Amino acid sequence: MLQALRAQAEQLDLEDELSPYRARFQLPAETVYLCGNSLGAAPAGIEQRISRTVTQEWASGLVGSWNSAGWIELPRIAARRLAPLIGADAECIAVTDSTSVNLFKVLSAALGLDPRRRRIVSERDNFPTDLYIAGGLIDLLGRRHELILVEDPEEIPAALGDSGGILMLSHVNYRTGRMLDMKGLTQLAHERGALVIWDLAHSAGAVELDLAACNADFAVGCGYKYLNGGPGAPAFLYCAPHHLDRARQPLSGWFSHREPFAFDPDYTAAEGIRRFHTGTPPVLSLTAFAEALEVWRDVDMAAIRRKSNALTGLFIEAVEKLCPDLTLVTPRDPDMRGSQVCLSVPAGGLAIMRALIALGVVGDFRAPDILRFGFAPLYNRFADAIRAAEMLARVLDEKIWEREEFQGKPAVT
Ligand SMILES: *Cc1c(COP(=O)(O)O)cnc(C)c1O
Repeated sequence: MLQALRAQAEQLDLEDELSPYRARFQLPAETVYLCGNSLGAAPAGIEQRISRTVTQEWASGLVGSWNSAGWIELPRIAARRLAPLIGADAECIAVTDSTSVNLFKVLSAALGLDPRRRRIVSERDNFPTDLYIAGGLIDLLGRRHELILVEDPEEIPAALGDSGGILMLSHVNYRTGRMLDMKGLTQLAHERGALVIWDLAHSAGAVELDLAACNADFAVGCGYKYLNGGPGAPAFLYCAPHHLDRARQPLSGWFSHREPFAFDPDYTAAEGIRRFHTGTPPVLSLTAFAEALEVWRDVDMAAIRRKSNALTGLFIEAVEKLCPDLTLVTPRDPDMRGSQVCLSVPAGGLAIMRALIALGVVGDFRAPDILRFGFAPLYNRFADAIRAAEMLARVLDEKIWEREEFQGKPAVT
């Protein structure tokens, strides 16, 4: 059985139109890396690029580099490179801050557009930071809004009601890999007088996106996951063009001012997307992120999606054959899943993942019982999917995870 799966993977790797992109990344030779949904791989040559920024631009050029090295343009450069990946005009994208902070900004802006919108609808299973940010903002605004959490997307229409609100969803669920219907839900929300905020943390760089065609109102997303921007890379936000004039956000630092270098004591928001910035851009991490985005220049997102479906599909097939004790949590229908596969285990999830990592297959564990495997179509191979399933079966069959060394909990899982 394993032989047949390996042969199938070998054939798929030979036919893979995206295979040349693997060489654009640095990956340890013996490692199967299936954690690009947590921290994307390092692009080839990234250390030289950062080193140039440090030695020539910072150490030598000093403060003049804001102009001479174009540091001040970096957020716009990154936005232009990101635009085709998310189906948005670059003038509607701000590359800045973290996903959490950007969510605070767009949620504030969305609420501010119509003060009658008092209801924020999300999923209980949404990534916790999204719920925490919404809760914090509600407190700050004097608890005049309510956060309604649905247990299942089916409940969204009822939760929205007809009086308008904000629908705040993750497009791909971080724990299950389930993907929501962005176009359909956005339309539904608009019919109910609501606005929609999409969190694209597990979508950008993983699936095809067309924010403009879906008529999304706002979105946020992550730079360090499938976009490979580096640990703690700047994140991004999107504001639909028709909201830009009226949208205001409360972290109104000088970089959101119409003329930051006028040092005017009175605030006037910048025209356009720049009003969503706050303070000085982090040049080193933005340099890395912009460089990582350059890898995507000619990538066909439809090809990304095709390969992603094939990779996750093959992994599901292999796991179901080799590891019968695991339960598939991710939807089997490829149209309903992102680029990750999640499996629930009866017991010992964290120890199983730690043992697997020790055998060279890196995924991660999400409490209470989920083994998570992210597939990055730019650099993952079909052989990786088979190897991961094979090693997972070994960890389980030989009870390797029960060893003392795999017990206990590291700070980051
Ligand atoms: C990873 C992730 C985040 C991360 O937020 P940070 O501010 O970068 O820590 C936010 N939302 C979702 C859905 C995520 O998966």
